[in-house]
Amino acid sequence: MTRRELLVGAGAGALGVLLVSCTPEPKPTPTATRTPSPLPTTAVPAPAATVRSTWATDPFSRGAVSYTRIGVQADARNRLAEPVEGRVFFAGEATDADNPATIRGAIHSGESAAVRIRAVAAPGERIAVIGAGLAGATAVAGLADADLDVTVLEARDRVGGRAHSQLDEEWAVPIQLGGWLLPGLAEGEEPAREESGLPETTELASALWRSPDGDVDPIGNAPLEAAIAAAQGSPTDIALAEALTETGSDLEDPSISALLAYLATTAGADADVLSSWFPPALPSAELRAVTGDFDAHLRELMSDAQLTLSSPVTRIAYDDTGVSLRLGTGESTSFDRVIVTVPLGVLQGGGIDFSPPLPFSHRGAINALGMGHIETIWLRYDEPFWETDATIWHSVGGDHVVRTWINLLPATGDGILVGIVGADAAEGFADLEDQEALLAALTSLAPFLPPEAG
Ligand SMILES: Cc1cc2nc3c(=O)[nH]c(=O)nc-3n(C[C@H](O)[C@H](O)[C@H](O)COP(=O)(O)OP(=O)(O)OC[C@H]3O[C@@H](n4cnc5c(N)ncnc54)[C@H](O)[C@@H]3O)c2cc1C
Repeated sequence: MTRRELLVGAGAGALGVLLVSCTPEPKPTPTATRTPSPLPTTAVPAPAATVRSTWATDPFSRGAVSYTRIGVQADARNRLAEPVEGRVFFAGEATDADNPATIRGAIHSGESAAVRIRAVAAPGERIAVIGAGLAGATAVAGLADADLDVTVLEARDRVGGRAHSQLDEEWAVPIQLGGWLLPGLAEGEEPAREESGLPETTELASALWRSPDGDVDPIGNAPLEAAIAAAQGSPTDIALAEALTETGSDLEDPSISALLAYLATTAGADADVLSSWFPPALPSAELRAVTGDFDAHLRELMSDAQLTLSSPVTRIAYDDTGVSLRLGTGESTSFDRVIVTVPLGVLQGGGIDFSPPLPFSHRGAINALGMGHIETIWLRYDEPFWETDATIWHSVGGDHVVRTWINLLPATGDGILVGIVGADAAEGFADLEDQEALLAALTSLAPFLPPEAG
């Protein structure tokens, strides 16, 4: 803990007791565990250790990323980002119209919120930032030299939000349970400005598309690009799935299905609910993976602010003179302005009560956007069973649950496979017991067994 960090109320123990009675019971943060026995039965060897995410049931995210539903304008995100009474400001990935659902969008939204606050705040004002994820931490950094008194209120007992690095000395790199993948860079291309301060990354440059019958040609984004281009001229917004069909793609085709499974791991939603007028960013053939520690990075960004963990905000009362926040502890504190960075899922689920209610434009935007699902499972092998050096694996055909895998062995020297699953499949995956989830993951790896082992 830094010296400026504190816990509201008496001691951490007392606070913990209070929180239990005031807030929904969070699912325990996943921890690195040795694979429990008895081991599931599958031809794929059991890993030495497994860690998985459960964002779908986490009360402080209620899903993974926002998405734009059919018939919803991207402008909904701009409406959500509009300040209310010059006192309540919003940031977070869902408020960024250009790069929603991404690390980049979250950072950009935090920068924008800081600019907006700086334009109106007088020296010495008290500013609260709700949420210590990428958006909140970036907003705090943007206010650092503005002569403002900044306090961060974070519900969890850690920083990072949906950028969650878990350190375990048995793993060669931090286990990233949330966002950690960035689009690959073309030769000579510089990372986006928003990415400049992020922890170190490694390149994942080689993809493998594998069916039960062997390797298949990569499909690329051409079918999606054609569908989206055609849909731009249609009189009404239609689902991305419908746009694909209308441009000649067969959704039953195993390669198209694998491409959509990959899309779901970044969009958080299936093509039958995604807007084709305002589609999500298309998946990249090449990626960069963050292999550093988000936690340390975000703490550094917030080093000039007072960081208050384990303090869920339950109510925001505001008028044109200021803001009063009620915490899960029952305590209330006053500020001049507040930046709300909580996930869309929390706003949709009524996790924070606004008084007076937010304007219709904000409530309309909150309800119009969708909150999608992404889950991830990390497997560590003492003795890797796979023979390929490819780093991004796609499972083509079959009915496997986890169809996108990242192979970190070439980058880290450690036998780490990361399974990523999106949309409805992710919601179902999150519902599984640990053993069931492990079995689903291992079964999904069958296409990647060496031929003699399969
Ligand atoms: C599994 C998964 C995989 C992803 N993969 C990628 C990827 O590969 N690439 C990519 O670019 N993006 C990815 N993303 C998205 C990316 O992680 C997010 O866009 C980004 O981290 C969101 O940051 P944020 O600050 O907007 O929200 P958050 O990180 O969610 O921060 C909000 C903070 O608010 C806190 N909070 C919630 N409720 C309250 C309350 N009542 N009071 C106080 N605090 C509260 C939360 O605890 C949290 O810390 C992924 C996300 C997930 C979940």
